[in-house]
Amino acid sequence: MRLKSPDFGQENKGKGSRGRRVETTCAMAPDFLENLTPLFLQYYELKEAHPGCLLLMQCGDFYEAYGEDAEVFARELEIVLTSKEAGKGRRLAMAGVPIQAVDPYLRGLIARGYRVALADQTEDPRQAKGLVRREVVRVVTAGTLLDPRMLDEKSHNFLVCLARGREEVGLAAADISTGDFLATEVVADLERLVEEGARFQPSEVILAGPSGADTLLREAAHRLEGACVEAPEYPTAREAEEILCREFALGSLRGLDLHGRPMATVAAAALLRYLKTTTLRHEVSLEPPRGYTLANHMILDSTTRRNLELTETILGRERRGSLLGTIDRTCTSMGARRLRDWMLRPLIEEDAVRARHDVVASMLRDPACTSEIRRALTRVLDIERLVARTVYGTAHARDLLALFQSLQGLPDLRILVSRLQSGSLLEQILERLDPHDDLCRLLSDALADDPPLSLREGGLIRDGYSPELDDLRRSRSEGRSWISSLEERERETTGIRSLKVGFNQVFGYYLEVTRANLKSVPEHYVRKQTLANAERFFTSELKEYESKVLGADDRIRELEYDLFITLRSQVAERAASLRLLARGLSELDVLASFAEMASDQDWVRPEIVEENVLDLEASRHPVVEASRQGQFVPNDCYLDSEKRLIILTGPNMSGKSTWLRQVALVAILAQMGAYVPARRARLGITDRVFTRVGASDDLHLGQSTFMVEMSETANIVNHATPRSLVVLDEIGRGTSTFDGLAIARAVAEYMHDKVRARTLFATHFHEMTRLERNLSGCRNFRVAVRENLDEVVFLHRIVPGGADRSYGIYVARLAGLPPEILKRAQVLLRRMEGESRRRHREPTRARGQQLGLFRASEDLEELVAEGEIPPPGEPGREPAAEGAARADAS
Ligand code: ADP
Ligand code: MG
Repeated sequence: MRLKSPDFGQENKGKGSRGRRVETTCAMAPDFLENLTPLFLQYYELKEAHPGCLLLMQCGDFYEAYGEDAEVFARELEIVLTSKEAGKGRRLAMAGVPIQAVDPYLRGLIARGYRVALADQTEDPRQAKGLVRREVVRVVTAGTLLDPRMLDEKSHNFLVCLARGREEVGLAAADISTGDFLATEVVADLERLVEEGARFQPSEVILAGPSGADTLLREAAHRLEGACVEAPEYPTAREAEEILCREFALGSLRGLDLHGRPMATVAAAALLRYLKTTTLRHEVSLEPPRGYTLANHMILDSTTRRNLELTETILGRERRGSLLGTIDRTCTSMGARRLRDWMLRPLIEEDAVRARHDVVASMLRDPACTSEIRRALTRVLDIERLVARTVYGTAHARDLLALFQSLQGLPDLRILVSRLQSGSLLEQILERLDPHDDLCRLLSDALADDPPLSLREGGLIRDGYSPELDDLRRSRSEGRSWISSLEERERETTGIRSLKVGFNQVFGYYLEVTRANLKSVPEHYVRKQTLANAERFFTSELKEYESKVLGADDRIRELEYDLFITLRSQVAERAASLRLLARGLSELDVLASFAEMASDQDWVRPEIVEENVLDLEASRHPVVEASRQGQFVPNDCYLDSEKRLIILTGPNMSGKSTWLRQVALVAILAQMGAYVPARRARLGITDRVFTRVGASDDLHLGQSTFMVEMSETANIVNHATPRSLVVLDEIGRGTSTFDGLAIARAVAEYMHDKVRARTLFATHFHEMTRLERNLSGCRNFRVAVRENLDEVVFLHRIVPGGADRSYGIYVARLAGLPPEILKRAQVLLRRMEGESRRRHREPTRARGQQLGLFRASEDLEELVAEGEIPPPGEPGREPAAEGAARADAS
C-alpha cells in the first residue's frame, strides 16, 4: 500500500509565517499494516482516503494522531509524544489534544501550511457494536478558513486554482469567507503566472491539469508560497461550464465574462470541486465567478509592489510603514480589505477614476456629514464574513445579532449619503445600501437581547416570536411558581418551619426535612434521598409539576435551536443581496477614508487628463513624510511624451529614491481614486508602473543580485509602453563599475529611443549626466546640497542639472569612519580627479589610461573571486574611486 504523506523534512526552512508543505509520496512498508489493531487500521484507512492531510481522529474526549503524523504534531506544536500499543506488542507514536482545546492547535498547523482532516465518532460509542464508526467530517486548510479567530480581518484569504491549458493557464481565486470569486486566463509563462497569482497572496494553491500538475504549475505554486495541493479531478471545459451553471443556477456563463475563456472556466470549476469534495464544504457560499482581464487595471508587478512597499514593508513584511498602513483610515474591516484591493488594482478608465474623485470631493464639501458617515460605519460589523458563516452554518446567535445591529444603522446612513451631492457612483453605492427592512424586523423580533454563544441551551429567541415557544415558557414558569409557592404551603400544612424545596441535577425537585422534624412528615411524602442530618422527599403532585417544568425545559431548548437554525437559513437565503450591501458599505468606507486622508494631510484632487503627462507640484512621499513629522521637503516633477527621461544624480542619502518612489505612489494613488500628497497634480492615465530599485534586498531569492537586476530590467524594457511610468533606481549596481555604467547607459538610451515610456532614472554614476547632450527627451536633475567647508547639508530638494561628484566621503564621515581612512580617501580621490582631468586634456593617452583602468578592474575581479576583497558595488562605494585605488596601487 502506498500512502501519500507530506515530506516534512523540507518544511519551513527559513520561511516567514507562511509555510509550504511539499507533497511527496512515500512508500509504506508492505507489512506495516499487518497485525495492527482495528483502531489503527481504521486510522490508516481514513488517512489513505485523505491524502496530503494530517489526520486527527476522535477517541472519546481527545483527538489523536499516530505514527508519522503524531511526530509532526509533537514537533510543530511542542506537545508530548507518547506511544500506544498498536497490536502484537508493537507500539506506535501517539500525540493527542483534548477536543475542547483543538482550535489553537489547528491554527498553528494551518499557519505552517498543513492541511488537517478531523475524523469524528459518528455513532454513540455506547450503542456501537465493536469499533465505533468514525468519519472525516471536516478538512481544515489555510485557504478555506472561516473561523474569525484564524483570519486576518483586514485582508482577504484567497484560495487560488491554476488549471493548465495548452497555451494558457486558467487562474481562479476565491475567498470563501467573503464570497469573492474571480477567474482569468494567463499565458503559460512562469513570470506572468506568478505575477497574477501573487496579487491574491493566496494562502493555498490548487493545481489541476489533464494529467496532473506539470512543472510550470508546480514552480508557480512554489513561488506563490501558499500551501499547495493537487486537485483530485480536472474537469474538461464542457464539464466546467456545467458545474458552474448548475452551482449558480445559470443558463449560461455569458453574463460572467467567462464565456469563451475555457481555461478560466476550468479553473473556477476545479476550485469549486475542490471545495466540495476535498474539504467537504458541501455548502459553498460564493458569488458566481467574475471573469476579468489583465487589461482592466493598472498593472503593478510584484517587484513594483514590493519596491514601493504598497501593502507591506520590505524589511519585516509589515503592514505598518507600508503605503496601505499609512493611508488606511477605513472604519470597517470590509473597507480595509477593499482599500487593499483598490491599491493592487488601480483603475485605468479616466471616467471611473474621476467618479471616485467626485465622491471624495463631495465628502470634502460636507465634512460634518462625512464624519457622521464615518461614525455610522464604525458601528457596522463584518457583514461579508458574517454572511458567509450563516451560509456555512457556523454563525451563532451573537453573529446574527451583530448583523441586526449593523443593519439597524442603515436608514440613517442612507440619509447621510443622500445628503452628499455627487454623481452616479454615489448613487450606485446608495442603491446598494438596502437596509433589508424585512430581514431587520425578522431579526429584531426573533433574537433575544443577549443570547449565549451556545445554541443548545436556550435563551436565543425573544418572547412573542413563536406562540409554541411562548406556551412552553408559560407552562414552565407556571410550574416553577407552583413549586416555589409549595414551600410556604407545605410548611403550613405540616407545621415544619424549616421545610425547604430544592433542586439538583440528579434528583430533580425535592422537599427537605431535617432529622429533628422527621416525625411530622405526612404519609404521602415519598423518600428520595438521605443526607447526614436531613431527608429529601417528593410527592406525586410535585412529581407532576416537575415533569411539566423539566419537560418544557427540554422542549424549549430543542425548539429554540430549531427556530434559530431556520432563522439562520433565512438570513443565508439573502446572502447575495447582503453581499451587495457589504460591497456598497466597503466602497463608501474607502472613499470616506480617502476624504479623511485628504483633509487631514492636505492632499489635493489630481486632475486626470487625456494627455500623457505627469505634472506634480510640491509632491510628497506619504510614508516618509509621516515618519518625519513635518520635516519633509516637497518636490516637483514633470514628465510627458517628449520630456520623457530624467537622469537624477546626487549623493547617497540625499533623497533620490524617496523622490522616485513618491512620483510612482502619486500616480497609483490618483488612479485608485484617492487624492494625492501634492500642492497640484495633473496626470494622464498610466497603464503600468515599473520599478527596479536597489540591489541589496533581492539576495533572498538565491539568484545572483546582478542576474535578478538584469531579468527585472529585461521585463521592463520588454513590457513597458509609452503610457507606462518607469522608475529605475541605481541599475547596474550589482556588477563591476564598467559593466554597470555601460549597461545603465544602454538601458537609458533604449528606454528613451524605443520604449518611450516616462522614465525616472536615479544613478550614482555621474557619467550618466552626459546623456542629456545626446538625447532630446532627456533632462538632468540633481539633489541640491549645501557645502560649508568640509560639511555637507542635504537639502532634499530636486533641482535641474547634474551632480558633478558624489560626496561619498562625506557620507562615510557621517557614518563614523575613522579620520585616518577619510583623509586617505581624500588623497586618493584628488589624485584620481587629477588623472581624469589629464585624460580629458590628452585624448590619446586617455584611452591608454582607460585600458589601464579596465585591467585594474579585471585584477579587482580576480581578487574578488579569490575572496581577497569584497565585491564592488557596495552602497556608498564610488566607482571611480575604486578604479583609481587599484590603478594607484599597481
Ligand atoms: P538616496 O536614494 O539618495 O540614497 P533616500 O531617498 O533613500 O536617499 O533618502 C534618504 C533619507 O533622507 C530618507 O530616509 C529620508 O529620511 C530622508 N529624505 C529623503 N527625501 C526627503 C525629503 N524630500 N524631505 C525630507 N527628508 C527626506
Ligand atoms: Mg537610493
